[in-house]
Amino acid sequence: MSDALRLDPRGLARLRALAPAGEVAVVGLGASGRAATTLLEAAGVSVYASDAKHPPGHDLARIARAAVVVASPGVPPDAPPLATARAHGVPIISEIEVALRAMPDLPYIGITGTNGKTTVTALIAHLLRALGKRTVEAGNIGTPLSAIAVAPEKPEWVVIELSSFQLHDTPSVAPQVAVLTNLAPDHLDRYATLAEYYDDKQRLFANATSASQRVVNADDAEVMRRTAAVAGAARKFSLHDAHAEAWYDAARSLLMLAGAPLLERPLLPLLGDHNVANALAAALAVWVADPAFQTTTGRAKLAAGLMSFHAIPHRLEPVGEVAGVLWVNDSKATNIGAARTALEGMTRPTVLLLGGRHKGEPYTAMLEAVRAHAKVVLAYGESAPIIEADLAAALGGAVPVERLGSSFEQVIARARALAAPGDVVLLAPACSSYDMFKNYEERGATFRRLALGQ
Ligand code: ADP
Repeated sequence: MSDALRLDPRGLARLRALAPAGEVAVVGLGASGRAATTLLEAAGVSVYASDAKHPPGHDLARIARAAVVVASPGVPPDAPPLATARAHGVPIISEIEVALRAMPDLPYIGITGTNGKTTVTALIAHLLRALGKRTVEAGNIGTPLSAIAVAPEKPEWVVIELSSFQLHDTPSVAPQVAVLTNLAPDHLDRYATLAEYYDDKQRLFANATSASQRVVNADDAEVMRRTAAVAGAARKFSLHDAHAEAWYDAARSLLMLAGAPLLERPLLPLLGDHNVANALAAALAVWVADPAFQTTTGRAKLAAGLMSFHAIPHRLEPVGEVAGVLWVNDSKATNIGAARTALEGMTRPTVLLLGGRHKGEPYTAMLEAVRAHAKVVLAYGESAPIIEADLAAALGGAVPVERLGSSFEQVIARARALAAPGDVVLLAPACSSYDMFKNYEERGATFRRLALGQ
């Protein structure tokens, strides 16, 4: 009951309206599924919560009778409980949707895009804290949003990372500032067409009004095309366009914001131009979030915040320099766009580790970056034959492509043998990790351990 007392009365009513008679089925009991269960129960809603890994597993007949199903982010859309819900016409919503219903007045910034979501989310939260605001990251990283709904003290700002799958099931999404980092092919293993994937991303703007603000990538034609007709103010960031509100003046190595210098590039402790784009997107999102930030002091605090930000693990993270070779862990580069971007950010000859479980896109999209930055490509894991077929002939020996098996120890040993002092060994696999590892974190941690000879 004490939990219910913390809930906003309008939020309480909106939660109860989810299942006026029946029950809500929560599918998947990771941190967010458990938090959604706690929130719904605090609101007096009947909940049936189940997880394939917790005996007795899912009661599919009960799920088929539910008023609504709450899907945890880790549960694939074709998993039996979700397939059952769809077959019986039971609406499926995300844990974020439940939490947003509970907090109708929540001030939040929402971030989506193919790449850079986590980095931009973490950057925005870090910058809001630098401006003295109590801030929480939620969604894919940080705290489940539902846990914030029942917390005794509410943060001043919440920063929510939203995947395309979460957006698909979050019809109430309406951020104060909506950030779209970029759009590139991904998840072709889970979407029938690219358009469907982009459509889900676009749902971030589904409830935009004339008062809404969006931060969009002026360098990305698909982003601009798909957001052109969205209501509200478009705030643009760009790596070269001086007309954008936040842009990178490469000639002077300066990050610019609202017509004035924000930070010198060398003071941003992140590798790669894409991280300059991420920093510009984040600074702009915070700048427009509250006019009170738009002062000389606010600008100085933003600059200080950018300077004190550290690379997030597995995202172009330098793990160490061994015998003059820099080892860089970009295990999170699980699609071609991300891996290509990582490679383009390298300023030293690069031994590129590419491989894992194939996700459907051709590796030929990396040819130019490979020619420009790689000294050798080591193709490993399930996708090695496809990578070799896509790259080897086209490169014509200009950059050798070596096909290895599925022993990561051997991949690292081969990389060590090929790398000369002054080189980089870059793990930017462009594939998922599931053929050889539990997840991308385990892949990155293994890379770090082996790279450092531990
Ligand atoms: P996401 O959460 O969208 O997966 P991350 O911030 O975790 O994004 O970064 C994942 C990978 O995507 C990084 O390791 C990097 O290789 C690449 N990346 C990050 N930001 C960008 C960007 N703005 N444009 C293109 N690629 C990026």
